[in-house]
Amino acid sequence: NEGVGSWATRRARMSPNRVALVHGDREWTYAAVADRANRAAHALRGLGVRPGDRVGYLGPNHPTFLEAFFGTGQLGAVFVPLNLRLTAPELAYILADCGVDVLLYAPGQSSVVAALRDLVALRHTVALEPGGDDPDYATLLGRAGSEPLDEPVPLDGTCVVLYTSGTTGRPKGVRLSHGNLAWNSFNVLIDVDLAADEVTLVTAPMFHVAALNQTVLPTFLKGGRSVLVPAFDPSAALELIGRHRVTFMFGVPSMFAAIAAAPGWADADLSSVRSMICGGAPVPEPLIRTYQRRGLTFMQGYGMTETSPGALFLRAADSADHAGSAGTPVFFSDVRLRDAAGGEVPPGVHGEIVVHGPNVMAGYWGRAAETAEVLSPDGWFRSGDLAIVDPDGYFHIRDRVGDMFISGGENVYPAEVEEALYQHPAVAECAVIGVDDDRWGEVGRAVVVLRSGSTVDPAELLASLDGRIARYKIPKSVVFVDVLPRTGSGKVRKSQLRRAHSTAGD
Ligand code: AMP
Ligand code: MG
Repeated sequence: NEGVGSWATRRARMSPNRVALVHGDREWTYAAVADRANRAAHALRGLGVRPGDRVGYLGPNHPTFLEAFFGTGQLGAVFVPLNLRLTAPELAYILADCGVDVLLYAPGQSSVVAALRDLVALRHTVALEPGGDDPDYATLLGRAGSEPLDEPVPLDGTCVVLYTSGTTGRPKGVRLSHGNLAWNSFNVLIDVDLAADEVTLVTAPMFHVAALNQTVLPTFLKGGRSVLVPAFDPSAALELIGRHRVTFMFGVPSMFAAIAAAPGWADADLSSVRSMICGGAPVPEPLIRTYQRRGLTFMQGYGMTETSPGALFLRAADSADHAGSAGTPVFFSDVRLRDAAGGEVPPGVHGEIVVHGPNVMAGYWGRAAETAEVLSPDGWFRSGDLAIVDPDGYFHIRDRVGDMFISGGENVYPAEVEEALYQHPAVAECAVIGVDDDRWGEVGRAVVVLRSGSTVDPAELLASLDGRIARYKIPKSVVFVDVLPRTGSGKVRKSQLRRAHSTAGD
């Protein structure tokens, strides 16, 4: 049984007394994580969780996240980490879509969970800290057995389901197997060359695959320590780097931009840092130069939830000479560019990135048709991203096929935002586009046609979206127009809108 759920026990066998996790002033050894992961497995089984059942987790970065993840994996059940930024209706959609029976939630989430109870059926809700009416996790763990379960867990069994807003449709659950996570972790060990004495700063949320599988799990495999940060704050990140002698971290571009703009940046002691990976959204070249001027090894990673996530990587040795490129394929993956007809494109010509390898997802949860659209029978996954390969063989990400945009590392699918805007009585027609933003990379802009005779204040219109969709999806500005440009078949011409309305101050 090599399933991910066995990793804690295996690592504890090798280095029981090394520190695995740090959170605030507390440290968790590998033995402690393994003990608590085993107990979590027994406790979940006691609640009726069986192999294949879904266990939801709603909480910020914390050691309980990893314990519950390993415990769920040991049982052969499926871990579903939830994005804390989503509203109750958005979470309810996800919980119902993949049929979560047991939901673990952190303190601070009880009002959202109360709202969820009216929207979706949940068999059990477990509070990660005692206090309310729900059974609490610590008590369940205290009563549970601590020996590892010997449930057979196949490597191709689903380990996690992660929801992502892709190019089309509603959020879809990406099914990643134990093997998918393992192979991506191996890629990181090889490509980043992580060491046993790594100290990894985890500022990105672990409910996204990059923090979990590009940093925490590979660090864990090597026996390093991960410093888990519950909420990103740029000044605190700088302070933690100095205090813990951090050697490695991953962040989305908006995080690295905020860190470089923080008051402590100029004087911060970054001497312990060996490498940083920036990715998850387009990485601006001035940002790369800012970090390189500090003498830091600033590498770029390109990937997506569907590829667990690494697909391309600009390694340390190349990071100076090929700055701005997303690099070359990760160790156990093949990446190519295809044209619209599926043919390979020559160097210098735009093509869609397609990925093949043991890190490519098993499929979308319960969506065979949508899976078939992106995953060919021979295992090539279509990313929806356009790139070119330069004469040296390095990839450069250029654009996306659909109209999805990325704000602060979070994908936004405009159709979801438009659907929410249409709930406002004054809106006759609308379209949402992503526009450049210094802080967030991109933010949404709503282009709206009002019903005749209606007026609405932009701020009031945007405020009406509060609670319906996550804050990061809410457009930052509104442009009122008389008509939306449409194609002959009635589709809004998004590219024309972007050309007309993408400059600041519109
Ligand atoms: P997600 O599935 O949420 O991880 O988002 C994946 C998407 O983020 C990809 O399809 C790309 O559009 C974008 N992305 C990730 N890494 C990069 C990068 N290094 N440069 C440009 N876009 C990126
Ligand atoms: Mg995606």
